[in-house]
Amino acid sequence: MKQTNHWRLRLIDSIRGTQIQDTLNQLRSEQYEDTLRLLTKQKLQYDALCKTAISHVPFYASYTPSTLPVVKKEVIRNHPSLFISKAYQGKLQAKGTSGSTGIPLIYKTTPEAQSFMWAGILLSWESAGYLLGDRVAFIAGSALVKKDIKHKVFHSLMNIKNYSAFHLEDSDIQNYLSDMNHSETRLIYGYATALNRVAETILKKGIKPPPALRGIVATAEVLSDQHRKNIENAFQVDVRNQYGCNEGGISAFECEHKNMHLISSGSRIELTPNGDLLSSNLVNKGFVFLRYFTGDRIELKPNESCQCGRGYPLIASVQGRSFDMIIDMNGKSTHSAFFNILFRSDTTVEQFQVHFNEDTLTIYLKVSIGFTIHDIKKKYLNVIRSEMRFRNYVIRLNESFLQADNAKHRYVIDQRKN
Ligand SMILES: [Zn+2]
Repeated sequence: MKQTNHWRLRLIDSIRGTQIQDTLNQLRSEQYEDTLRLLTKQKLQYDALCKTAISHVPFYASYTPSTLPVVKKEVIRNHPSLFISKAYQGKLQAKGTSGSTGIPLIYKTTPEAQSFMWAGILLSWESAGYLLGDRVAFIAGSALVKKDIKHKVFHSLMNIKNYSAFHLEDSDIQNYLSDMNHSETRLIYGYATALNRVAETILKKGIKPPPALRGIVATAEVLSDQHRKNIENAFQVDVRNQYGCNEGGISAFECEHKNMHLISSGSRIELTPNGDLLSSNLVNKGFVFLRYFTGDRIELKPNESCQCGRGYPLIASVQGRSFDMIIDMNGKSTHSAFFNILFRSDTTVEQFQVHFNEDTLTIYLKVSIGFTIHDIKKKYLNVIRSEMRFRNYVIRLNESFLQADNAKHRYVIDQRKN
């Protein structure tokens, strides 16, 4: 690490009242602790937080540690003041999660929780070859890029340059890339689908990738195998996946062995029998919600360790949002991961989006030239039919996808009337 660049984080910490540098140092050493020790530490943190919640957080006053309910966004949204801890003396700051693909939520966060979020992101960047002070390119929409002065100062101190994921025509991408060349960009951090779009332009036009680049970290969306391959081919560096659910205290990153590690000191997670991810945020002690329904679905890899030596537990895959569900005519729900798996080994299918209403399922596919609807139907329609029942099945090739307000890719669009 460049010792000379410590001042950047120290300055940010002193301006914003955070402790990103200290938290990052703590995570850097903690990540190599033994898994059992980390999980024991996590359990102690969780037990202590439950105790505090029951005595100092109004929402939990009538519960015991064994009766804590699952908390959904709606409950927090309707009764935010009930979640504020009377035991917390520090500053609380309002924060929102992106609402366009789910239910919006405004909650309160603390400097400690903000520090953890950034330290987790920096740790993921470091595993991709980043050194503090390096030029970083963000390719993202509103969820990552805030435009107020506080964020501008932060981005400039962090040497981050923003490139909009809303403008990804070939000419925009060429400008972005030439700017990245001149500024010696070392790391790119962005939405998986936006990174893939840039990769396609590089490959199509034979553009040389930014020469100083060391790595790419994809975030905020599911990273498909096909997109990872495209991005690595185009940029000639490794792509690492990063997964975060900030309100839940969840932060996970891929190591050099491409295993995803969960930073176990930030959250205690559990999976419901349906595979829904619940999280208790262990770092936000000002606005406490336990067993929070994140709306995400993941698979764990319990009892497995990784050659990198990190003790942080492993996540097998992040499958996406719970609301990426297709409901058929019989009321049966199928997760969009079904299509991920279906098209995973088909290199002709670049990306999909599924629209459904009461009786029709429309599958939008981005495919290589030369592929016809007939080919696709022959290959997949029977499998799709056996999984979900609709009156009509429509396939559309290479038409534009419907985009969310924050430029994230949406896999499923529910067009039912009610
Ligand atoms: Zn590892």
